[in-house]
Amino acid sequence: MAQLQKGKLLYEGKAKKVWEVAGDPDHVIQEFKNDATAFNGEKRGSWEAKGTVNNTVASFLFRYLEKQGIKTHFVDQLSPNEMLIKKLAIVPLEVIMRNRAAGSFVKRYGAPEGLVFSEPTFEFSYKRDDLGDPLINESHAIALGVATQEDIDEIRATAIQVNQLLKAFFEERGITLVDFKLEFGKHKGTMLLGDEISPDTCRFWDAATGKKLDKDRFRFDLGGVEDAYAEMLRRITGEVLA
Ligand code: UDP
Repeated sequence: MAQLQKGKLLYEGKAKKVWEVAGDPDHVIQEFKNDATAFNGEKRGSWEAKGTVNNTVASFLFRYLEKQGIKTHFVDQLSPNEMLIKKLAIVPLEVIMRNRAAGSFVKRYGAPEGLVFSEPTFEFSYKRDDLGDPLINESHAIALGVATQEDIDEIRATAIQVNQLLKAFFEERGITLVDFKLEFGKHKGTMLLGDEISPDTCRFWDAATGKKLDKDRFRFDLGGVEDAYAEMLRRITGEVLA
């Protein structure tokens, strides 16, 4: 690949920046920051190597999923905290898959945390920070024009497949995949899996001890957040942080 040149900053979010690739309208660079936020931006923090862990984990998992036939926006990991991706027109829906009850599912329905589902659950939130990312059903998403029925059918089928693949991948590494969030977007008319898959966007529990190894350690001040992220990097990629 020719030498890439970072162009203009296109977008800065809570945990990532997105940069233009000079002279290339089809790709962008996502840069992973060390910043963390929770509860719709109310809680803020930052720690060394967070960006590196999330980028390296997400790059590894996108490569793995691509090998299993999932179409993603991933092109290459450019540096510890930068990923080259295909530019997407993002579908403004957060797609949440759950294998066990946790987080907002527990809050909403009063289910015991850890309840094992016989079938994974699937839900959408509407990506609108100003509204607090409300739950949305398919007919409302279609009515708002954020996706078509065909888009939704494709997203659901892919999310279910991704869950099957990742659940098995993590089981082999002694990790229970409790739940996670996916985002999708279109690139030249094709629906691709986008954003990231990392300890920021998944709940990971140690299968033997139940220890939480994800962003819940930051959300709920459980301590050991840096160690938990480093542990997930090691379990997934074998890499040990310097
Ligand atoms: N999630 C995420 N971004 C969001 C909301 C949720 O990555 O804006 C992830 C979260 O880390 C968890 C899963 O989606 O792995 C389900 O989150 P839940 O709906 O339980 O919400 P939360 O407890 O985070 O409010």
